[in-house]
Formats: sequence, C-alpha cells, structure tokens
Amino acid sequence: MTRKTSVIRPWLSTAMLLAASTAQAQDVPEQAHRLFVGDHANGVVHALDADTGAMLGDFALDMTPALTAVGSTVFAVQGASGKVALIDSGITLEDHGDHADLKITDPALLNLTLTGTTPAHVVEGSGQIALFDDGTGAVQLFTEAALRAEPFAPVTLEPGAAHHGLAAPMGDYLVVSVPGETADAPRVGVKVIDQSGAQLGDVMPCPGVHGQAQSARVFAFGCKDGVVLATPAANGGAPVLQHLPTAELGEGNVSTLKGGTALQFFLGNYGPDAVVLIEPGSDAPFRKIALPTRRVDFALDPVIARNGYILTEDGQLHLLDILSGTITQSVTVTEPYSMDGHWRDPRPRLAVAGGHIALTDPLKGVVRLISTETFAEVRQIPVAGVPYTIVAVGGSGAAH
Ligand code: ZN
Ligand code: ZN
Repeated sequence: MTRKTSVIRPWLSTAMLLAASTAQAQDVPEQAHRLFVGDHANGVVHALDADTGAMLGDFALDMTPALTAVGSTVFAVQGASGKVALIDSGITLEDHGDHADLKITDPALLNLTLTGTTPAHVVEGSGQIALFDDGTGAVQLFTEAALRAEPFAPVTLEPGAAHHGLAAPMGDYLVVSVPGETADAPRVGVKVIDQSGAQLGDVMPCPGVHGQAQSARVFAFGCKDGVVLATPAANGGAPVLQHLPTAELGEGNVSTLKGGTALQFFLGNYGPDAVVLIEPGSDAPFRKIALPTRRVDFALDPVIARNGYILTEDGQLHLLDILSGTITQSVTVTEPYSMDGHWRDPRPRLAVAGGHIALTDPLKGVVRLISTETFAEVRQIPVAGVPYTIVAVGGSGAAH
C-alpha cells in the first residue's frame, strides 16, 4: 500500500464552494446523486452533481480508469499502472435503522491508494470488499470504513495463480475464480474458500468465468456454458454452488451481470444482440430478450425495481420491463455508435442516478440525463475530453 498526497482540482473557485456549503447548511437536500465520469483517453475522473449539472471537481489519475462504486466510495481502477485510486463521493447514507441520514461533503480523493501488480475487479458483498489482482491471483479483503482508517491493513488471500479473476465475499466465505493451467488458459470454474484461504468442497465448473452480480444475497457468475449461482447456506455454512446451463438459449454466453435490488433476478448479456433475465429458483430460470441491433450497454434501476435500460448501437435506449420480460419503450438518445471496431472504442455507458438514466456520449462530449419516468432527455452536461465510464452514487435520506 502506498499513500500519496491527494490531487484535487476543484472546478469551482473556493469562494463558490464556500457559498455552496453555506446554502447547503440552510437547506439540506433530502436526496442527492453524483456522477463520476472517467475519460476515455486521459487519466481523469470528473465529479458532477446529477441533480443540478454542476461540476464538483476533477481528479487526476495515471491513466483512464475502470470505475466501481461501493457505498460512498468510487474505486478508479488503473490496472496497467498497478493502482486503484479511491474517491470519496461526498454522499454518505448512514443507517439509522428505520431510515438513513444523508450527509453531503465535497468529493475528494482519499490519501490511500491501493496498489498491486494488475488490480482489476472490485466486488462488494456482506459488508466486505474484495479486490482481485490479476497479476498475482491475490485477493485483498477489507471494509469500506477501513479505507479511511490508519493503518490500512487488509486481509490478503492467495487462492490461486495469476489470471483475470474475481472474488465475491459471502458472509465468512468467498467465492473465487479458478484459473486454467496458465494465466492465459481459459478459467475453469469457481470455488468456495474461507477467510483463511482454505477451500471448501469441489471446484464448480464454470468455463471462462467472467462477470458477477449480487441480488438478495445470491451471487451469479457468468460462464461460457451457463451461469453459476452461489446461495448462502441456511445454517451459516459455506455457500451452495449450482450450475445452470444456457445451451438452450443458442449461440452466446453471459459475461456481464447486473443484480436486481427489490426483486431477486439478474440481467446478463447474451451474444451481441440479446440480454437474458435470470431468476434463481425458477423452473425456467432464463428468459432471453432479443434486441433490434447490437447492444452497447445496459443497467438496472435501483429504485424502480422492474426497470432495466439497454442502449443499442442505433442510438436507441430501450426500457425493459423485468416482470413481463419485454421491451415496452424505445427512444433515440444518441447518434449511432457502431459495435464494429475495437470493444474499447469510445461508446456510451449507462448509470442510473435517482430519477435519471445518465449516459455518456463520448463523441459529443456530454453526459445526457434521461428521465426514467418520461424517457425524455432533461439535461445535457458538457464534460471536457471524451466522457466514457460512469458510475452514480447517492440516494435519499433524512436530514436532521
Ligand atoms: Zn437519523
Ligand atoms: Zn473483467
């Protein structure tokens, strides 16, 4: 671990920031949402207020980051630089039992920078965060609060050799990917380990395992030939692994997953022009939904539990009704972004912030906010450079 001086370049002048905090003290908002946008070319993350469009600051990094939000922290993963910068979003929802208290401060880079050989996937579960290092196969395990405590002392586990992997914390256990013979050979499956790193049970085959999500305490993992579900044992024992084959769905496989919040389901990619709804415990767990053109990105609404949003390369945003498994609305929101070319070419990404779908439009240099109620664009936020990756942080709470 290294600590370095935080680099923050506030967009607003200090005087304006002071004025803003005075206004906040008198009139504390009861909901707040912020967007963190990574640039496609440069090492920078922009912090924006999703409710007003105000720029809240820029954070300088070594390279263009992959972004993951956990609680009030944004992980800016810079794999090739061996670093993960940590941004305090400035929005904290503190659990008060029957309600949450909303606390708002300026976004800021934490002093702590996580380091590794090639840090990659960040996964949260059961109040713990697991950072997988593809370069070593090691897993760092810690809580969000530990990122702000001195000294930072994560538990480090070494469940296997180096590979592009993942680790999902589940109570006293973790589900981790199992590498093939070499780092470049296809991953073979997943296994359960305890927090001393000891394996419990057999490896569950899950060829090429990639992508995971959690919904109502169940984790799902994408495989070349299906999906593995990990369900917590009723007695607090090791999670139970189950492989659901997807052969009947035709050509394709799941490698990116999102998990429902109020409803238990997963939404995954399937081939270039479909998505699949996955319902644990159902006799027919898969519903494949064909899209009119190739898929660019998709997201779930954490508030409106039955809404999924899918952007396709023709620039259309589709509303997927999770309950019926059908697309009920489609609107054109950007110029076409062809899926021909490299997978990492600049194309829009989606996040959901309160009542808005936030969508980066890299070639236009804006973030577009689309109402989740009307599907109409309500705001464009100009962002310097090429806005690309995006995560939303926020929610609603009491201000007392
Ligand atoms: Zn309270
Ligand atoms: Zn990956």
